Amino acid sequence: MNKSLSDIKAAILDMDGVIWKSHQPLCDLNQLFEEFKRHQIKFLFATNNAMSTVEQYVKKFASMDAIVESWQILTSSIATGYILSKDFPAGGPIHVMGSQALESTLAEYKFTNTDKDPIAVVGGLDPLTSYERLRKASFFIQSGIPFYFTNPDATYPTPEGLCPGAGTFLAALETASGVKAKLAGKPLPYIFEAGLERLKIPAQQTLVIGDRLETDILGGYRAGCKTALVLTGVATRADLESWSPAPDIVVENVMDLFDLVE
Ligand SMILES: [Mg+2]
Repeated sequence: MNKSLSDIKAAILDMDGVIWKSHQPLCDLNQLFEEFKRHQIKFLFATNNAMSTVEQYVKKFASMDAIVESWQILTSSIATGYILSKDFPAGGPIHVMGSQALESTLAEYKFTNTDKDPIAVVGGLDPLTSYERLRKASFFIQSGIPFYFTNPDATYPTPEGLCPGAGTFLAALETASGVKAKLAGKPLPYIFEAGLERLKIPAQQTLVIGDRLETDILGGYRAGCKTALVLTGVATRADLESWSPAPDIVVENVMDLFDLVE
């Protein structure tokens, strides 16, 4: 296992559980950015959350006095645009059952939301999802139109408990239609592939940093990147014992990564 950062030229970080927990920073963000710069490591952020736009994330960083540029943020909406563009290079009309953020992100990839003759159905988490929207999307999927979904996360944590996540609605549409969706977000490699395209750094020289084994670490591994698990979020040391392949690096928190550099 290579525990050194010496050959790492880029990092792709998950956000929740890595650099903050909801609205509570887990480290000094500016100090983190300074360390990356000092070690000449380019960095960007990748989240499975498709409910917020890139601009909303840039603002969230700003609210914590940290400055990131929009190219440094990747969401599963962007990963969806990335794979849709590979399948439909010219863009086109699609049916979206998801958030406004998903719809506006896909519009940037030349895919416009319609109820008339869509070339694909794209689903994601949206608190406004209704039976009527599930019904409509399900009919389109049954008719044989390619079916995509932002991410499979069954739940997401809130102070009150685990809330139904994108995967809950994915299961509803897959159950109703009998068709499995093509997934865009982690643990698929596409969000990282989209990041590597932006970074222009080879996967082997890129470190994926996350707090979940079954999404961040697995997705990073599938993309061919080095992986680092932080223990400030979901996964614990006990979880590591039953997980294979193991992350390349395990640290208590993200700042500890820089202790690995001589
Ligand atoms: Mg996380």
